[in-house]
Amino acid sequence: MASLRFKALEVLMNRNPIESEFEHHYKYAELFGENVFGIDKMKQYLSYDSLKSVKKAIQIGDKIDIRVANDVANAMKIWGISKGATHYTHWFQPLTGSTAEKHDAFFEPQHDGTAIDQFEGKNLVQQEPDASFFPSGGLRNTFEARGYTAWDPSSPAFIFGKTLCIPTIFVSYTGESLDYKSPLLKALSALNKSATGVAQYFDKEVENVEATLGWEQEFFLVDNALYSVRPDLMLTGRTLFGVGSAKNQQLNDNYFGSINSRTMNFLSEVEVEALKLGIPVKTRHNEVAPMQFEVAPAFEECNLAVDHNQLLIELMKKIARRHNFRVLFHEKPYQGINGSGKHNNWSLKTNLGINLLKPGKNPKQNLQFLSFFVCAIKAVHDYGDILRSSMASPGNDLRLGTGEAPPGIMSVFVGEELTKKLNEVEVKIRGGKMSPEEKTEIKLNIGKIPQLLIDNTDRNRTSPFAFTGDKFEIRSVGSTLNCSAVMTAINTMMAKVLKEFKIQVDQKIESGLKKDEAIFEILRTFISTSKKIRFDGDGYSKEWEEEAKKRGLTNVLKSVHAYGEKVGETSIQLFQEMQVMTRAELEARYTINLERYQKIIQIEARILGDLVLNHIIPTALNYQTQLLNNIEKLQKVTSGIVMNSQMTTIEEIAERVDLIHSKVNELVSKRRAVNEIPQIEKKAKAYCDSILPFFDEIRYEVDKLEKIVDDKLWPLPKYRELLFAQ
Ligand code: ADP
Ligand code: MG
Repeated sequence: MASLRFKALEVLMNRNPIESEFEHHYKYAELFGENVFGIDKMKQYLSYDSLKSVKKAIQIGDKIDIRVANDVANAMKIWGISKGATHYTHWFQPLTGSTAEKHDAFFEPQHDGTAIDQFEGKNLVQQEPDASFFPSGGLRNTFEARGYTAWDPSSPAFIFGKTLCIPTIFVSYTGESLDYKSPLLKALSALNKSATGVAQYFDKEVENVEATLGWEQEFFLVDNALYSVRPDLMLTGRTLFGVGSAKNQQLNDNYFGSINSRTMNFLSEVEVEALKLGIPVKTRHNEVAPMQFEVAPAFEECNLAVDHNQLLIELMKKIARRHNFRVLFHEKPYQGINGSGKHNNWSLKTNLGINLLKPGKNPKQNLQFLSFFVCAIKAVHDYGDILRSSMASPGNDLRLGTGEAPPGIMSVFVGEELTKKLNEVEVKIRGGKMSPEEKTEIKLNIGKIPQLLIDNTDRNRTSPFAFTGDKFEIRSVGSTLNCSAVMTAINTMMAKVLKEFKIQVDQKIESGLKKDEAIFEILRTFISTSKKIRFDGDGYSKEWEEEAKKRGLTNVLKSVHAYGEKVGETSIQLFQEMQVMTRAELEARYTINLERYQKIIQIEARILGDLVLNHIIPTALNYQTQLLNNIEKLQKVTSGIVMNSQMTTIEEIAERVDLIHSKVNELVSKRRAVNEIPQIEKKAKAYCDSILPFFDEIRYEVDKLEKIVDDKLWPLPKYRELLFAQ
């Protein structure tokens, strides 16, 4: 009987011919925002007063009263129904890592046997989903069992399928955040406050500052039939076994290569639907590994960009099924080839449209740039471990520091020319004094430099935090992670450093220095105290690891160890002072991280055991029996001849099967022991230290078997098929 693997390959080969990628024609600009209840729709459906109220809520976070909410709800309902929506839902991002929704129909039966469509302000503003199935890290025990979702007017409602989705935060009844969005909104508000204060040194007209985010999402595609017969891919998102394909990425022929038709059809449909949802997807290209791709939008306001990333992930999963694909968002689906990340490009923008991390056209703007630029470096210097902690996950552990992504060390790349300028500022200013010519020279010249970075001539692709000319690119974020965690961290860190900067500059001004000189003086101290975080060399090299150690920088490689930074005193003080998270909320998040980590490794370990005992070993023994039968028959016709090669294979199978068996038994009993550990911190660390090492040991033996067992019998789709057959 053919193995499931061959059945899957047969399904794949018998698929209908691929539709031409040139068949459909779309007008992208016209589609944009079609399914979003944005300002244009509001103008059409809302009264003037309600529109004004909502705009204020979006811009400065003003409260919306219930009359306005009723008006907005009614408008959303009329618009939604006209677009075919039958249901509405609060759409939120619990700490499970995916999005959550609970649909209610607009439809409402009446006493007289008729029915109407209804959606009221109170349903728009607040709902109470059953919170008990979402992770709360113990917050529910200490506080309240119930949780509620509350409307976030700064992210517009949209229609997904036949459902009107309303972006919301998710908090416990006593106000503790149970999601990704609520701390992010608080971080953005803290950033706004601090950054506006500093920006006003340079332009009194600035009223607010927002963070901008442009993410780049990497992923793999795999055929659905092959995926369905790989239990490891299906249940863990990654392959636990598999011999590397003879050809993979070594010819470098994939990166930016032409996208195959089947993928192009899929990506076009994703793009069309994404654009309708207001996600400004702009870029698509092949990545380094076979069947690996990247999609990136134009940057947006940070909160909106985060929602759009989550939404795109859901959209891609859904659309993939129609194309008989599965999308793998895991950080490392395949060993031996590149995994996937999600670069977060980050900057700050004033309400006047000025990018604060982009050098300007005149000396004043350049000094402004320098201030924000140096504060960003100082933020990573002061709170790098918190940033590292925000991107920790078991999947990301498999790629950080392995030569394809930065290690656990947080450093900042600024490029040769800006380094020179920072050094000049540091050396030249003494006690706030610098000659007027020197100041002008610095302020003028700094404006010319970043063009080099924008033009790609002075870039560094091995730095976790790289300045690219008009923004920073955070490069260690994993492909499955919700950008919120990283964005909450960096914006809070930046808010704190900007606040500190302003306090110190104001003190200098009070003590008699001119504003310019005061700014230069504080910049000088910030530059010099944060120097050790700057590194322009090869971030993937061994030398950097050693150098970083000498500089006293930490290199936390495993997420179970990185998580702890959240509940360190530095972190608690920072998040509490900036009013982003309380100690209790941070502790809850720490617990949730550990629980998730432990459960993920536990699931992987179970599947590994299951695959070995039920798939791999029976297959190997089956083949061994074939060889034994062969020898038996051969001996009947050729008595006396020793069957050397068959015997070697038979013995090898016997030895490896034995070894695998005993290792799996050992793994199971270790797991039992570790499961008894009551404290989650110790338990998660034990999973990392004493369970994970078995994975590689067992894999080594299994992969050896894959190499010798008859191809026809092997049950799991091989790497070459997963990566190339389609
Ligand atoms: P790459 O890093 O792939 O060479 P680019 O540097 O052109 O490409 O841009 C990468 C990403 O940076 C894009 O997704 C874009 O949206 C984002 N980006 C550009 N400017 C900003 C900004 N001011 N703030 C945030 N993100 C930005
Ligand atoms: Mg990039």
